Amino acid sequence: MIDFSLAPKTLKAKRLEHNAAEYLRGIARYYDDHEHEELRPEEIKRVRENAAASGAALAEPGPGDDGMLATIIMSEESCMGDPMIPQTVAGFGLGNAAIGAVATPEQRARFGNLFCAMAITEPGCGSDTSAVSTTAKLDPATNEWVLNGEKIFVTSGKRCQAVVVWATLDKSKGRAAIKSFVVEKTRPGCTLIKLEHKLGIRASDTASILLEDCRIPFDNILGSPEIREARGGQAGVLATFDATRPYVASQAIGVARAAIEFTKEKLEEAGYTFPYDKGIHSLNAVQKEMLDMEANLEAARLLVWQSASLLDKGLRNSLESSMGKAKAGKACSLICQRCVALLGPLGYSKEVLAEKWMRDVKINDIFEGTGQIQMLVVCRLILGFSRDQLK
Ligand SMILES: Cc1cc2nc3c(=O)[nH]c(=O)nc-3n(C[C@H](O)[C@H](O)[C@H](O)COP(=O)(O)OP(=O)(O)OC[C@H]3O[C@@H](n4cnc5c(N)ncnc54)[C@H](O)[C@@H]3O)c2cc1C
Repeated sequence: MIDFSLAPKTLKAKRLEHNAAEYLRGIARYYDDHEHEELRPEEIKRVRENAAASGAALAEPGPGDDGMLATIIMSEESCMGDPMIPQTVAGFGLGNAAIGAVATPEQRARFGNLFCAMAITEPGCGSDTSAVSTTAKLDPATNEWVLNGEKIFVTSGKRCQAVVVWATLDKSKGRAAIKSFVVEKTRPGCTLIKLEHKLGIRASDTASILLEDCRIPFDNILGSPEIREARGGQAGVLATFDATRPYVASQAIGVARAAIEFTKEKLEEAGYTFPYDKGIHSLNAVQKEMLDMEANLEAARLLVWQSASLLDKGLRNSLESSMGKAKAGKACSLICQRCVALLGPLGYSKEVLAEKWMRDVKINDIFEGTGQIQMLVVCRLILGFSRDQLK
């Protein structure tokens, strides 16, 4: 049975995070207008204090530990303020979620406090992650991995301290040879070569990173170095998606919730009411649209919560995490577009954040696997097809 009753400490942290989102909203436009500008010290201080307060609430002694579910609930709340400022300040990137999911306790101790980005995409490799061509070769003389290749569109690639890099041990062995490696940015041969100018999530940086004979210790590999050619050989690296996809989906839900709540408030000021106890035939177009958006948001949230909750129980959640991301990515993008339309000219104006939310939320349907790729994963898992049978 699915039970999403949350521990009192999670509820307390959620309330704190919700209140903190108000502050984030106040500074969000500035960093949208000033991409790549570093946050001002007083803002960093305030964002850190807010995060520390909700972190302390979660760490309070008491019953229940909502684990990953608590993480995505906090993420939804803070994304109602801004989807990128908190994780940039807190130093939490997709690489951290990957490390949390697959690293050994010793690696967690070594890398847990680093701000870690995730680098899968390359100039010749996007949706089809089996095309990764960055190489990792073991130098037996020094017991170090030597990495070579180029990674593009690395979120937080400039501000992070380390990057979780996907690289192949042997291109001829296909997916099974792809492994992930933690590369600290201070390593010689790891160079930032480009910064993107983006449509949305402009409070974060997106960078290209070149790896040229970049040496890292043997123990920086996440998972086993063994190349198992059995079906699902890429499982080690792909398992990280099971943790990162619910997180990315929760960001979309937070942004879309902000858009819905703001739009509803404005429409109520204009005299609309939103009854939940009337038949569909008696609702006008605006009321129907709002209720439809709310239902879609709730459906996305429940799928995402389910995927996180399975992870917390140590159960396989690949199907659910892809379902949740597919639903959240698409529904939330559509919700934000519809809110812009419902708000009329105000929606298109920079006076309010609706147009920013519409731009910001689109990325959640793209990174960590596009909506189309999530649908492929879902179909494969439900129908029992392999990658080669359904692509
Ligand atoms: C702002 C931003 C931040 C990013 N951050 C990161 C990051 O931190 N780390 C990282 O590794 N990457 C990151 N990415 C890259 C992102 O993950 C890729 O853009 C995404 O995976 C798609 O790959 P692609 O762009 O090469 O598109 P392609 O793979 O070329 O796909 C193009 C289009 O075709 C569709 N398509 C592809 N294959 C199929 C198929 N088999 N069936 C149906 N449709 C298909 C896709 O859905 C997409 O719509 C980021 C991208 C952006 C824009």
